[in-house]
Amino acid sequence: MSLRFDAISKLSNSSEEVHVPGGMKITGLFGENVFTLATARQFLSDEGYKSLVTSVKGGKKIDRTVANQIANGIRAWAESKGVSHYTHWFQPLTGTTAEKHDSFFTIKSDGTPIEEFDGAALIQQEPDASSFPSGGLRATFEARGYTAWDPSSPAFIMEIGDGKTLCIPTIFVSYTGESLDYKAPLLKALEAVNKAAIDVCHYFDRNVQKVTPTLGWEQEYFVIDEGLANARPDLIQCGRTVFGAAPAKGQQLEDHYFGSIPERVYAFMRDFEMESYRLGIPLRTRHNEVAPAQFECAPIFEEANIAVDHNTLLMDVMNRVAKRHRLVVLLHEKPFAGINGSGKHNNWSLATDTGVNLLAPGKTPKTNLMFLTFFVNAIKAVHDYADIMRASIASAQNDHRLGANEAPPAIISVFVGQYLAKVLQEVKNRVGDKFDEQDEAILKLDLHRSIPELMLDNTDRNRTSPFAFTGNKFEFRAVGSSANCANAMTVLNTIVAETLRNFKQEVDSHIEKGEKKEIAIMHVIQKYIVDSEKVLFEGDGYSEEWHKEAERRGLPNLKTTPVALDAMVTEKAKRLFEHNGVYTHSELEARHEIELEKYIKKVQIEARVMGDLAINHILPAAVAYQTELAGNIESLQSIGLPESAYKSQLTIVTEISRHISAIYEQVDAMVEARKVANNLSDTRAKAIAYCDEVKGKYFDSIRYHVDKLEHLVDDEMWTLPKYREMLFLR
Ligand code: ADP
Ligand code: MG
Repeated sequence: MSLRFDAISKLSNSSEEVHVPGGMKITGLFGENVFTLATARQFLSDEGYKSLVTSVKGGKKIDRTVANQIANGIRAWAESKGVSHYTHWFQPLTGTTAEKHDSFFTIKSDGTPIEEFDGAALIQQEPDASSFPSGGLRATFEARGYTAWDPSSPAFIMEIGDGKTLCIPTIFVSYTGESLDYKAPLLKALEAVNKAAIDVCHYFDRNVQKVTPTLGWEQEYFVIDEGLANARPDLIQCGRTVFGAAPAKGQQLEDHYFGSIPERVYAFMRDFEMESYRLGIPLRTRHNEVAPAQFECAPIFEEANIAVDHNTLLMDVMNRVAKRHRLVVLLHEKPFAGINGSGKHNNWSLATDTGVNLLAPGKTPKTNLMFLTFFVNAIKAVHDYADIMRASIASAQNDHRLGANEAPPAIISVFVGQYLAKVLQEVKNRVGDKFDEQDEAILKLDLHRSIPELMLDNTDRNRTSPFAFTGNKFEFRAVGSSANCANAMTVLNTIVAETLRNFKQEVDSHIEKGEKKEIAIMHVIQKYIVDSEKVLFEGDGYSEEWHKEAERRGLPNLKTTPVALDAMVTEKAKRLFEHNGVYTHSELEARHEIELEKYIKKVQIEARVMGDLAINHILPAAVAYQTELAGNIESLQSIGLPESAYKSQLTIVTEISRHISAIYEQVDAMVEARKVANNLSDTRAKAIAYCDEVKGKYFDSIRYHVDKLEHLVDDEMWTLPKYREMLFLR
C-alpha cells in the first residue's frame, strides 16, 4: 500500500488523542520558564540584581565579576527547575534558531566533579560557526564567530520531551565585530530610532528618556496530518507542494474562516499556547484563516526585541508540539497553489517611557501635533526607502505571495484611511503665511475622538495595502509567514530613525530663523506631506489600475527576489545603514550575497524535488494506468468490437502520452537550464537565471501537465496525497 492510502486509513481509524490538560489559569503558568526580573530578584544578590536591571533597561555592559554572580543565580534557578544543560540561543541568517548544548557538569583539576556556570560562559561562547552563512565575511576578515549575551532578552528554559535546557539569548558576531545574525543589527536599529525619537519627543515633552519600538506580529500557518505530509516529499523538503490539482472544493465557500476550529487542531493549539505561556509569550488570539487548514495566532504586542525572540521561539515550539499531535505545521508562505498563502503582519509603533504611544492620536492640540509629527515621519520614511522595505521582505517563498491577489502587492504604498488623508490634505493646503493664522484650527482637530472610531469601522480598513495605519499603529503586512521579523523591523526602525533625525535638523533650522517651535514643526510636516504624497494610496492594491498608476507615480514594483534585493546595496542604502550604525558596507554586501544564495538554494532544491517527483512518482503512475488502458483496448479489439467501443480509452491513452512526453522533455530541459545557471560565477546573475530560466520557464508548465495527469490517472494508482486530502482530512 502506498504511504498515501496508509495515511488516509490511519486517519480514519485513529481514535487516540493527545490529552491536553485544561482549566488552568494562564496567569498561573505565565513566564514560569523565564528568568524574569522578578525571578532575578529572588536568585541574585543586590549588586547582581542592580547590575542586571541597569543593563536590561539602559543597555549597559556588565562587568565580569558581577557576571559571575549573575551566572550563578541563573544556574541556581535553572537547577531548581531540573535543568542540567545550557546553550547560547541565537538567530543565524539560515532563518532558524541555533543552539549548542553544554552541561553545567565539569571536572575540577583535582578530579572533583561539580556543576558550574560562570560569568564567562554566560557572556560569551564560540559555536562552531564555519557552517553558518557569512556571505564571505569570515573569509574576508579571517574571523571566527562568537555569541554574546543579550541581557535585554531574558534567559528561558526550553523543554524538549523530558529534557530541559537553559537558553541564553545572544547575538552572533565575528571576532572583528561584523554581525552574523538577525539580532545584532536589530538591536542597533532599535537604538538608532530610540535616540532620534527622543530628540524629537523633546519638542513636546522634556521628560521622555527612552523610546521603544513595539511589535505585535500575527502568525499565519497551515496544519495538516503528519502521515499525509510524510507522503509528500515536496512538503518535507521544500515546505510547499510543487504539484497538486485544485480540489473541487477549495476556499470558494469561505466557510473555513467563520467555521469552528477542528478538534484535533484545537488540542494542538491549546498545547502550544500552554508551552508559549510558560515561555512568557503573551499569545492572545487564535482563529481560522481564509484558506482551508489555515490558522492564525497573535500575541499582545511587546518591545520589538522581545517580540522578535518570541516569534522565532513560537515557530520552534509550534513545530515541536505539532509532532506530539502527529500534525505538521507549515510556516511556508505558499504551501498550496490556488488558495491563500500565509503572512506575518508586523504591527509596529513607538512607545515612550512616559507611557505614550507616539502613533496614537492625541487628546490635546499639543499631543495632536506630536502624533502628526511621528505619523508623517513614518510615511516619509516609507516613501523615501520603499525599495529597501521591499528588499527586507524578499524571499523565494514570499515571491509566491506578493503580487498574487491575496497578499499585498509588491508595490510598497501607505494606507492611512479617509479621515487622516483629509487631515493631511488640509495641512498641506495651508501654505505660506496663511498657515500662521490658521494653525490653531489644525492643532485643535479632534483626532483623538475621530480616528480610532473610523479605523475600527471596517469600511475604512484596506486589506490590500502593504503598509497600513490602523488607528494607533502601522501594520506592515507584506512580511512573510516564515520570515524572521527582525529583518523587516531593522529596516523600518532604521529608516524612521534617519527620517526623524533629518526632521529635527530641518525644524531646528526653522526655529533658528525665528519661527515659533509649533509653527516650525508644522512647516516641516507640511513639506514632508508634499514630498511623500505619492506613496499614499487608499484604493484597491490588487487592481490593474493601481499597477498602472503606481508606474506613473514612479513607485517601484519588483516582483522577484533577485532584483528586489538590489536595493540593499545601493549607495543610498549604504549611506542610510552606515549613518545609523546598523550595517557597515561590507556587512550589507555580505547580507546581500547571503540572501541571493538562499534564493538560489531554495529554487535549486525545488527544481530537483520537482524532477524527482515527476520521474519517480508521477510518470510511473501515469504509465501504469496507460498500460492498463492499452490492455483494455487490446482485449476489446481482440473480441472484434468496433473502434467506437474503445474510443474514449484511446483518447485518454493519447492524452496521457502527450503529458508524459511534455513532462519528460521539460524536466530534461530544466536540468540543462540548471547546469547553465550553475556555471554562472556572479551570484546575482545566477539568482536571476534560477528565477527566470529555471523557475520562470519550467515550474508552472511542468506543474500544468502533472496536475492534468492527476485528473486523468486512476485515483488508486496516484501515490501523492491530493489537495482535498491534505486540506480537509484531519
Ligand atoms: P487585526 O484586526 O489586524 O487582527 P488587532 O487590533 O487585533 O488587529 O491587533 C493586531 C496586533 O496589533 C496585535 O498583535 C496587537 O498586540 C498589536 N498591537 C496593538 N497595539 C500595538 C502597538 N501600539 N504597537 C505594536 N503592536 C500593537
Ligand atoms: Mg492584521
